[in-house]
Parts: sequence; C-alpha cells; structure tokens
Amino acid sequence: MRKTLVALCLSALLAGCNTSSNESQAPIAPTPAEQALEYLTQLGSSAEGIGARPTGSAAETRAADWIQDKLGGWGYEVTRQPFSYQRRGEDKSSQNLIVELRGQSDRVILLGAHYDSTGEDEGSEGATDNGAGVAALLAVAEALQGQSLPHTVRFAFFGAEENGLNGSKAYAASLDEAAIDALLAMVNYDTIAGGDIVYVHSAHSDEAEYGCADPARYSHDPRVRDRLLAISRQSTTPFAIHPSYAGYPEGETGSWSDHAPFACLGVPIAYVEATNFTINGQDGYDGYSQSTHPALWDCYDDTTKSACDRDSESQWGKIWHTGHDRLDKMAELFPGRIEQQLGANTEILIRFLREPGL
Ligand SMILES: [Zn+2]
Repeated sequence: MRKTLVALCLSALLAGCNTSSNESQAPIAPTPAEQALEYLTQLGSSAEGIGARPTGSAAETRAADWIQDKLGGWGYEVTRQPFSYQRRGEDKSSQNLIVELRGQSDRVILLGAHYDSTGEDEGSEGATDNGAGVAALLAVAEALQGQSLPHTVRFAFFGAEENGLNGSKAYAASLDEAAIDALLAMVNYDTIAGGDIVYVHSAHSDEAEYGCADPARYSHDPRVRDRLLAISRQSTTPFAIHPSYAGYPEGETGSWSDHAPFACLGVPIAYVEATNFTINGQDGYDGYSQSTHPALWDCYDDTTKSACDRDSESQWGKIWHTGHDRLDKMAELFPGRIEQQLGANTEILIRFLREPGL
C-alpha cells in the first residue's frame, strides 16, 4: 500500500499528494459496541425488526432464523439443535443455535444467551431480556471471526429459557463426557442492560439451590466471575458484586437462568445481569427491582430504598417482563444507558476471550 502511495505521489508531482484525504474517505468500520446496538435494534424492536419473541411462538422461530443467518453470513458453520419439552402437559419444541471459533487450545469457553422473550401481554419486546445478551454475543462472534484466541470459544443461543431453561438444559444434556471435560468456563449473558447496575455473579456456594441431578459434580468455583470483574475495572462500566442478602451470599446467584445446567455439570460459571440489589423490593433485596427510576414506581422512597407504602403500591421498579422492556421506553427513561451497558459488555467479553487468564 505504501509503495502505491509513493508511486501515486511521484506521478502526481506538482499536482500535490494528499494522502490524508484519501484515508479520510475510507469507510470507518463500526466498532463491536456499535454493531451490538444495531443487532439489538434488529432483534428487539418491532418497529425496526422482530420485537417480542414469546417462548413457543412463530416469532421465536423467526428470531432463531435471523441469528442463524447472521452467524452463517460471517462464515460460521451453524449447528441448529432442535429440542422438545413439556409445558403444562403439552409437547413444545424450540431450537438452539451453536457456533464455534477454534482456538489455540481445545479447551472451550462457552458463551450463552437466550433469544426468546416474555411479557408481550404487557407490551414487552424483550429488548433487555434478552435481546441485549444476544446482540452482545453476535457482535463478539462477528468481531472475533478468523482470529486465533487462546481457547476455543463456543457461542450458544438458547431457545425457550423463559418457561424453564429448556434450551440450555437440552444443550447441556446433549454433551458427552469428553465435551463436558473440555468446558473451561460458561458465561451467561441474560439481561445485561437496562437495570441501574451491571453485576457479575458466580454460582451459589450451596448446591441445594441448584438441585442438580448429580450433586457431587456441581461447581461454584468463582474464578470466571472474578476474572470478568477484574477485566471490567478497565471499562467504562465496571461490574459490581451484589452484597449478601437473605439466602444469597455476596456475589452468588440462584439457578434461574441458563448458567444453572452448566454449574450442575461442574463448569465454573459467571452470570452477568443489570439490576439493582440496593433496592428493598417486594421480596427484599433480591434484584427483582431493577431501577429506582420514579416512573417505575407508584412512589419510591430513597431513604428506605423501597416503595413509600409497601402494602398498597403495585409498581416495584421492574423492567423485565413488563411494558418498559422496549428500546423506545428505555431511551425515554434512561437516555444513553442501553448503549453504554451493551457496549461495555461487548468489549469486556472480547477482552476476556483474548486474555481469559483461566
Ligand atoms: Zn432472561
């Protein structure tokens, strides 16, 4: 390239040679953070893309097709894993989408995000739960395609999470002993944007919280959480560790999302979610209230960190599964927040995969 420029400059001679103007005309590639926002808009906005993807609906399948198209377009070989499950006595089906980026080692870092959504009756479009997690993983897969990383990275997009972690359970059940042994870490991105604070958790120190089929196998090793926490300190949105609350020691989470089946297989997990554990919500400091924003409460009392009248009020600062889980609502209530949290989560994950330290 330099030789060409020199030749052009020599031939241009007195006509001058302005290489900087040539450079400024070159299109600037969007950053992974910007790409993540674009994918979130395409997946999580009914005005510009798919919108709500209720578990078991045609829109859930449409979202799977869309994810498959994106991954295939970047050159990944996509495994579409169909599975069936029972819901209130009925047979249902869904699918996981899985791709792999081969690394310098055969040890595997598994990244997971569910693409189905819930709360559509209230007007939710599943933008934060969990369009954001899917969008971040897609942007990471796109950015790292073709790169040689220390470990193999496997991206799993799970279906049917909202009615019982069906996709992640089906995927975990499909792994043989060698595949389980190869798993070095599992990172679950579920509702990584929207709430006031972005947290990273490990599994619970008490296996009984997870009720694993083989309790002896369970791992609550916090090393993945701690590595992500350290990396996030160099970011604009450092992760937080939730303080201890009833039943849940500091930084430890329950079994309600897609990390659980992997903790049961003995894999060290980390779970990233945006919420607010400083709020004394309906059932205490459990992270079910995601924000102190007054629009999400009948009346929020900043002194007690709770509803002004706990007995009579009905709004508890919730975003997920409600009509607030929409990109237009989020932009109105929290200008710039989704962009910042989503962008930071995308960049933190890329840094982690380049320097996993595991
Ligand atoms: Zn979710």
